[in-house]
Amino acid sequence: MSVLVLGSGQLARMMALAGSPLGISVQAVDVADNKVVDPVSKQKISNSLESMIEEVNAITVEFEHIPEDLLALTHSSGKLKPSVEAILTGADRVREKKLLEKLSIANCPFEIITEVDQLDAAVAKLGEKLIIKASRDGYDGYGQWRLQSKNELPELKQQLSQLDLHKVPLIAEKMLNFDRELSLVAVRSSDGDIAYYPLAENLHYQGQLHVSIAPAPQVDKALEQQAQAIFNKLASMLDYVGVLAVEFFQIGPQLLVNEIAPRVHNSGHWTMQGADTCQFENHLRAVRGLPLGSTKVTSPTAMINIIGCKAFARDMLSIPGCHLHWYGKTPRNKRKMGHFNLCADNYPELGKTMQALAEYVPDEYFPMLKDEATKLLKL
Ligand code: ATP
Ligand code: MG
Repeated sequence: MSVLVLGSGQLARMMALAGSPLGISVQAVDVADNKVVDPVSKQKISNSLESMIEEVNAITVEFEHIPEDLLALTHSSGKLKPSVEAILTGADRVREKKLLEKLSIANCPFEIITEVDQLDAAVAKLGEKLIIKASRDGYDGYGQWRLQSKNELPELKQQLSQLDLHKVPLIAEKMLNFDRELSLVAVRSSDGDIAYYPLAENLHYQGQLHVSIAPAPQVDKALEQQAQAIFNKLASMLDYVGVLAVEFFQIGPQLLVNEIAPRVHNSGHWTMQGADTCQFENHLRAVRGLPLGSTKVTSPTAMINIIGCKAFARDMLSIPGCHLHWYGKTPRNKRKMGHFNLCADNYPELGKTMQALAEYVPDEYFPMLKDEATKLLKL
């Protein structure tokens, strides 16, 4: 059994590691040169892309920004899961917003911008605090601009006038004052079975995910059901197969969709140690037509991203319940280099484990760790 992943980063790597015990061999395509590589060793494989497409049982993606020709080629094989429509929706904020509107799913108020001068009307309608997002190719907060007040508008317009907005429009969103960010990661099989992980609470810093706590504390049944109902609508409309992540802003009892990711997701990495079956295995099961695995939580887990940090000691592995996942990538500023999964019996214990980790790692790279630990101690 074999699966080809478009993209050869850490998500493809974690799929390969999860597939191995099931006898599923996972290969990856480096989308920069269309060469096939082993996603763990990163060694090039001599098979051509075309022969791999022919050979494998299923093709999937680790990110949504797949070059058009590669997407068309893999789509025409009939093996691509999730569908090309789902991938294109996740890759294009205009398509995504249109789908949310069509399904009457609450989301952040927005305007589509194809001329910089439309920003004046956007400010008049949405208020002067805006987040402006490129509709394609953004991730980890890249391709975003923040408008804090009307006074900054002329300078921002000047900056944005360099872009070809007819080719890649912008989405101007109202900057929301939400209570917190949550995400739902769930998996749908080709038969339409769905297995949901619990909502995770996500903490961002400078537009990048730093910490996920799962299950998210203080979630009542109604909130969980609201998230699952939104997932169901999206997944059935897209006839979705595989793991799909939905990012939310919570305001009081209401969830607004921020965005969707048609793939395994950073806020689902906690499942590697905190759930019966991890998201990577479940994604492979779905795209290979196997029964889905249990998504039962085995312990409250904190996932802590290691971002931009170069040298890394391993001494923190003495902390009970601390698991390190190191991706083996070349260090770069703001690059995700790895993550920790911390598991404990309950939230206060998890808080203590996070405090223990904070003793080993430099504060500057882990700005959310201590405050979040303190919050968990009080639960
Ligand atoms: P990622 O790849 O990490 O998911 P991204 O580049 O796709 O990020 P978004 O998820 O749209 O971008 O935004 C990143 C973060 O910026 C959000 O998780 C949230 O913290 C903040 N943010 C985005 N949109 C808004 C908004 N309308 N109001 C307030 N904060 C926002
Ligand atoms: Mg996001």
